[in-house]
Amino acid sequence: MAPMPLDTAPVPKLPPLTDPFGRAITYLRVSVTDRCDFRCVYCMAEDMTFLPKKEVLTLEELDRLCSAFVARGVRKLRLTGGEPLVRKNVMSLVRALSRHLKTGDIDELTLTTNGSQLARFAGELADLGVRRVNVSVDTLDPVKFREVTRWGDLEQVMAGIAAARAAGLHVKVNAVALKDVNADAFDDLILWTHGSGMDLTLIETMPMGEVGADRTDQYLPLSAVRADLATRWTLHDIPLKTGGPARYVEVAETGGKLGFITPLTHNFCEGCNRVRVTCTGTLYMCLGQEDAADLRAPLRASESDGPLQAAIDEAIARKPKGHDFVIDPDHRAPAVARHMSVTGG
Ligand code: SAM
Repeated sequence: MAPMPLDTAPVPKLPPLTDPFGRAITYLRVSVTDRCDFRCVYCMAEDMTFLPKKEVLTLEELDRLCSAFVARGVRKLRLTGGEPLVRKNVMSLVRALSRHLKTGDIDELTLTTNGSQLARFAGELADLGVRRVNVSVDTLDPVKFREVTRWGDLEQVMAGIAAARAAGLHVKVNAVALKDVNADAFDDLILWTHGSGMDLTLIETMPMGEVGADRTDQYLPLSAVRADLATRWTLHDIPLKTGGPARYVEVAETGGKLGFITPLTHNFCEGCNRVRVTCTGTLYMCLGQEDAADLRAPLRASESDGPLQAAIDEAIARKPKGHDFVIDPDHRAPAVARHMSVTGG
């Protein structure tokens, strides 16, 4: 396998990716591992079986795959997982991909993390040109945090966030809204994030994969959360766009931004600009649909990117208009069989 490229030559450009609905595909999320050091109750079952190593793309292959998308007009790369920072040598991938920042081929290289390893890596991430990270924190109560993550340590995550901020990274906190777990946690999360200059985004739990629990018990519509918050906080809609699906309000009392990601109560597909690739090289054109394309076979079949680019074209031509997640008593089973940890959200 060729060593990871670190050159500073721009990527030779190929025709940009546009889906059948005229949406330009400019954002790629890459799950670099299916493994995680947490077992969040809404995300994974406790006894997950992980992929054998031979099925997982090497870091060099992941770099080649990402770069093939950059050649097609992708301007934003987000590394996710599983937990991206538990993948061995992941920083060599970040280093390789950061060449696209230097050449101006991409606008942003970022990652979504649970924060457990951030204290170790924050400085290097900042040095490599990463400017923003999303960190998932569902509650500030250490006991509940352990309950929801099963294995997580809030103190370690807080130290990771502090290190990220000290390194100059902008931190956005993501919290999944869960009825019995954190319905009472949002005021504290707003005060903490906004009080320290961070943004907060709340996410509706999506029916993905068997987690050994009934999702109708966990589901908390963000329409209800927002209505409740509005009894205590002044929320002004703002037109902020960060390339993702969140709709933002400004909280007048704090001056901070609060995002809502509402796949259930308000489908956000019309402006979808993204696709997701897993650590096995499977391309999902929609988070909420089963259809996928194997990019690993064409990637491994040839040293030239021709077969890979042809497979990408074929897949993008099938990108669906949107997802149709439903959680109610008639829809207790997952909408898609895979867990969120496969694609990383
Ligand atoms: N380990 C990293 C982390 O914790 O952020 C990255 C991967 S994690 C799968 C990405 C995000 O997806 C996290 O914010 C997590 O809370 C969220 N998530 C996981 N399962 C979800 C589900 N079923 N519905 C909504 N969000 C989910």
